[in-house]
This record gives sequence, C-alpha cells and structure tokens, in this order.
Amino acid sequence: MLLTAQLLLSYQRCHRQAYLDVYGDKTQKSAPSDFLNKLRQDRLEHQQQFFASYEWVQPEYPQYDWQAGGQATLALMQAGVPYIRQGVLWVEQGNGVAYQSIPDLLTKTEGASLFGDWIYVPTDIRLSKRPKLEYQILATFHAYLLASIQGVWPEESYLYLRERGLHPVNLTINQPKLDLLLSELLEIIQTQQEPEVFIVSNRCSLCGWLSHCYQIAQQDRHLSLLPGVTPSRYPILQSHNLASVEDLAFANPTQLAEVTGFGPEVANKLVCQARAFAKQAPVIFAANRVRAVSSQISPAPIELYFDIEAEPSLNLAYLHGVLVVDREQQTETFHPLLADQPHQEEQVWLQFLDLVLAYPQAPIYHFCAYEVQTVERLAALYGSPDTIIQPLVERFIDLHALVTNTVVLPVESYTLKLIARWLGFQWRNSEANGAQSIYWYSEWLSTGNRDFLDTIVDYNEDDCQATYHIKNWLADFLVFGQAAPALHSQIF
Ligand code: SF4
Repeated sequence: MLLTAQLLLSYQRCHRQAYLDVYGDKTQKSAPSDFLNKLRQDRLEHQQQFFASYEWVQPEYPQYDWQAGGQATLALMQAGVPYIRQGVLWVEQGNGVAYQSIPDLLTKTEGASLFGDWIYVPTDIRLSKRPKLEYQILATFHAYLLASIQGVWPEESYLYLRERGLHPVNLTINQPKLDLLLSELLEIIQTQQEPEVFIVSNRCSLCGWLSHCYQIAQQDRHLSLLPGVTPSRYPILQSHNLASVEDLAFANPTQLAEVTGFGPEVANKLVCQARAFAKQAPVIFAANRVRAVSSQISPAPIELYFDIEAEPSLNLAYLHGVLVVDREQQTETFHPLLADQPHQEEQVWLQFLDLVLAYPQAPIYHFCAYEVQTVERLAALYGSPDTIIQPLVERFIDLHALVTNTVVLPVESYTLKLIARWLGFQWRNSEANGAQSIYWYSEWLSTGNRDFLDTIVDYNEDDCQATYHIKNWLADFLVFGQAAPALHSQIF
C-alpha cells in the first residue's frame, strides 16, 4: 500500500476525496478545469523562477517508479549534492505500507546525519499567499520521511510562498497533527471504508469527483445539499433523527433551537430551508425584516447594477461592469469599463468614478461584499478622497445580504448563478464563471486574442443583468406578492 503526500493533501481537503483517489472509478473523475490548469501552470512558472537561483541536480529514474526514484535521491544525498530538485523520499514501514513524498527542493546544510556532517532540509514551493495548514502538514510529512532516511529530523521545513518568500514551518507544533492524519488516512485506506458524500460548495467546486458525488447526493436527497447544513451541524442533526430533507422540513424550529443549541435564528432558517426544498418554493423566514428590505429595493428612477472582474494573482480589478437602468426613459445601458492591460487599472477606476458620480441619487446594486471591498481598496490605492468615496459606498446595496436575511429559496447555494438560474435567467455562455473568467483574462494577456476579452465582457454584462433580475424578483416577491407562489413558514 502506497501512501503519498498527494493523498495526504487530498485527505486534508476531504476524506472521501482520498478514498476515491485510491478506490474510485477513475472514468468518473472529471479532467481538471481550465482554471485549475492555469493554477498548475502558474505554479510551474513560480517554481521555475525559484529554481533559477540554484544549481540543482534532479534524480533520474523510470517514470512513476517511486522506489527507484527514492534510491536515486538517496544516492544524491549520500554524495552530499548541495541542492536536489524534486527528489523522491521513499520509506517502507515493514507493515506493507510505503510512504512517498516529493519536496520541491532538498537543501544540504550543516548537521550530523547518517550521511556524515550534513543533513537535508525540505522546501515546497507554493502559489499561496499564506502558509495554509494543509501545506504545513505536507512540509512536516517531508521532514518526517527525511528523519527516517537521514536518521535525524531537520530543525525546520520551509514553504516558499508567492509574496512572503521563505516561511519556516514549526515541526514541533505540526508533528502531532501529522501523526493523527496519517493514522486516520491509513485506517480508511486499509479498511476500505467509503466516507459519506458531503457537498460543500467552495470545497467541492474544484474537485474532479464533483459530478460523481453530486449525483449520489441528489439521489439520496442528502442534507448537505441544503444551505446551512455544515459538516459540524450535520452529525448533530443526525443524532436527533433529522437525517433527510423531509425530516427537517417537519421539525419544530423552537424545539430544534433548544435541543441542538443552534439558537432560534439558525434553527428557524434551517427548517424553512428544508421546507423550501421540499416544496420547491421560496419561503419568507424573517417576516419582521420584510419592510426594511422592501424599502431598499423599491424602484428608483435610475438604478445601477455593478459587477467587477478581477485577477487575484495580480491583485488587479480589470473590469468594472455597470448596467444603468433608467426606469423613466425605459432604457438599459451597459458600460464595460475595461483595462485591456494591467497598468490601466487606475484609468478604468477613474472612469468608473465618473460614471457612478454622474448618477448621484442612484442606488448601486451588487451581489456579495466583494464590490464594496474592492472600491475601498482602489480608493485607498489611488488616493480618491473620502468625501467622494464615503457617500458613494453608502449607495451600495448588497442583494445577497437582502436575499439571505429575508427569504430561503430552493437552491443549493446562495450564489448569483444558482439564484438567477432558479429564476430562469440564462447566461449566454453556460461555462462562464468567476474562475473561468480569470483563465480567460490570462489567455488574453498571453495570446492577445480579443475573443477572450469579448467573452469576459458578455459574462460580466450577464452578471449585472442577473443581479437586476434578482432585485426585481425580490421586490415583487416582498412588496407585491407577484412572484412564484410563496410558502410561509407558519403553514406547517
Ligand atoms: S466532490 Fe466534494 S465530497 Fe466528493 S470527493 Fe470531492 S470534495 Fe469530497
């Protein structure tokens, strides 16, 4: 049985993912998305830059023959090679289990080991801006295998991060965590216990097993498809015999709040969410907030709908899309304020200010907090005065907050895409999403093919239109009652 660093990484992300990586039917695993391939390419480039500063040697061995790779790497370490690039650490435990990891760099340093008066220290190169725990555990795993090979633990293991550079990993703190993870992982693999499906949208969206797991979750009407049912709440619900959507839909929110300690707001929302799912209809769960929310979405003569496209790795906001809806003139005009090149960010920021300041009374609708955060960041970066920015930010209205504070919908996640699609809105490009637009922008920068930019602009306009669609629906539903038939929680 082979236990690799890659498998340990999968296990930390999702226990089931590690199980499927070993025992799953690989034909059911999707190929990596364009976005994931872009991240891999970015990581390779980050590695190339790092390795350019070293005179390294790489072990030679037949592809995927990890045992041979381990022997070749051992020979390099015994010879005292200063820098070993992507050497294989291979350790057999004697119980039929072999461990393998491939640190990006092994650096020879002073110390006493089985090799002589030198030891090796591992470094992993990561794109991440911060030292995520999962990477620290892998760095500790390298050190653990090295200790077995060279007879001594290195004092530290390193992560080379995109912005921080070298970050030392505290092995004393992380070793007990590693021990626990390894023993759990080993048990799952040895006993072949298939962990239950549990869909967590931001975790699963990047996983190749998503369509396989999602199919199972849908067949089982699994509770994890309900927003608000988190991995920590799920076992509590199960322990109170609330194992299905229907169970939860018929639960008494007051009793649930007392029994579980969720509190009245969470318990009420969970039960309403299950009812919305069971009936496939929206439910108002906070009637006391309807008036306040309605006042924020009542029609204005001119309304703005705003969505930003950004490239996180460049810390760049390259497209400010603004849909101007003039209800009196009955016109809708979309303004894509686009930085063709990263250095034009300030220019489009100023264009954005000109546009929104031309409509000083208009509310600015957006979806989630990112737009406000980015406006504040750009204002600080480019020195825009507070006297302009403060009144501007006060005009922003976050539709995501308004929706999630008043109603529950039969959707699996309160994203712009899922809510607008539930309302019947369609994006022109069905593959479009935030991750894909990051990939498109990077392709535009590297190829100069303007089709990529045009596709992003269409996608951004559709996001603005979707936001407009949701606002209209919510206003109708709360104010005029003209939306899809609603269930109020008290009917149960
Ligand atoms: S799709 Fe989600 S539940 Fe399934 S293996 Fe991947 S991360 Fe785990």
